[in-house]
Amino acid sequence: MKDIILTGDRPTGKLHLGHYIGSLKSRVELQNKYKQYVMVADVQALTDNADNPQKVRDNIIELLLDYLSVGIDPNKTTICIQSMIPAIAELTIFYLNLVSVSRLERNPTIKQELKMRNFSGGIPAGFLTYPVSQAADITAFQANFVPAGEDQAPMIEQTCEIVRRFNTYYGETLKEPKIILSKTPRLVGTDGKSKMSKSLRNKIYLADSPDDIEKKVMSMFTDPNHLNVNDPGNTKDNPVFIYLDAFGEDKEKIAAMKAHYERGGLGDVKVKKYLNEVLQGFLEPIRIKREALQKDLKAIYKIAFDGTKEANIVTADTLKNVKKAMRINYQDM
Ligand code: ATP
Ligand code: MG
Repeated sequence: MKDIILTGDRPTGKLHLGHYIGSLKSRVELQNKYKQYVMVADVQALTDNADNPQKVRDNIIELLLDYLSVGIDPNKTTICIQSMIPAIAELTIFYLNLVSVSRLERNPTIKQELKMRNFSGGIPAGFLTYPVSQAADITAFQANFVPAGEDQAPMIEQTCEIVRRFNTYYGETLKEPKIILSKTPRLVGTDGKSKMSKSLRNKIYLADSPDDIEKKVMSMFTDPNHLNVNDPGNTKDNPVFIYLDAFGEDKEKIAAMKAHYERGGLGDVKVKKYLNEVLQGFLEPIRIKREALQKDLKAIYKIAFDGTKEANIVTADTLKNVKKAMRINYQDM
């Protein structure tokens, strides 16, 4: 049997370059080798958007369009929608008993995200516990691997802890998953400060227009100490060079530009113009495919609904095994 992959995204916005390099690119490769499920995590998106379900609803189709336009192939990958898979919600309830509140409060990604979000009415319990629901996502599909960005490492660790506790209490039932990190597990935003994120204004969308791409690239953060063209510049923490490394194909040219920038004499505008060229070239085919797919949205939704049917079969089976292990399968006893 093929190893199983589960990944997903929150429908909180269109996907951006960080998603591509951190996760989408690997998915397109991995779908040829593994049984891959990609989940639109709308339940998770609601944990910090409870007051705005319309935003979540609207972004489901955006995510689906992004998936298909980068090359996720529904004949190879099963695409599904989290809220339509009841087994995940049930597993979450059982797993909540296997983790302490203080453990959830120590989760570094949650801590970071809480800082960014500033919940005015207190932290929603669903937000604090979303790592548990993620453990339910992963184990429901019995996934061996999760290709994701670095911010997800604590979630996978939490999942493994829940799996171990479950297996200790109820007998060997669930598998511990492993994260698959890409070469760029955390793409910095155009601001050079935080991870590129849907929730921040530091992203370049896969669906951005050529004009928007150019505007965003030309106003990117670079090396703040590179004031004059002739000053030696820093390429390491410089998002313009980080993006060139991630998306540029002419590695020799990029190496030469880096050396030139580091010794001084290469201006930021020149480097940005080249990055703009690289990104325009990379994003154009994705945008064209997206525009074509957009003409038949019904067909796109159907792909997700069909995938969800299949996901319900697999996850219901896991739930059955879980209930049996927990000896709460009363009717079968
Ligand atoms: P939000 O701000 O709503 O949380 P997000 O941009 O963090 O959105 P998610 O849907 O939470 O996106 O993440 C989906 C996947 O993309 C995860 O595997 C995550 O690790 C990965 N990812 C997100 N941003 C980046 C990034 N900047 N670099 C690498 N991977 C990323
Ligand atoms: Mg996120």
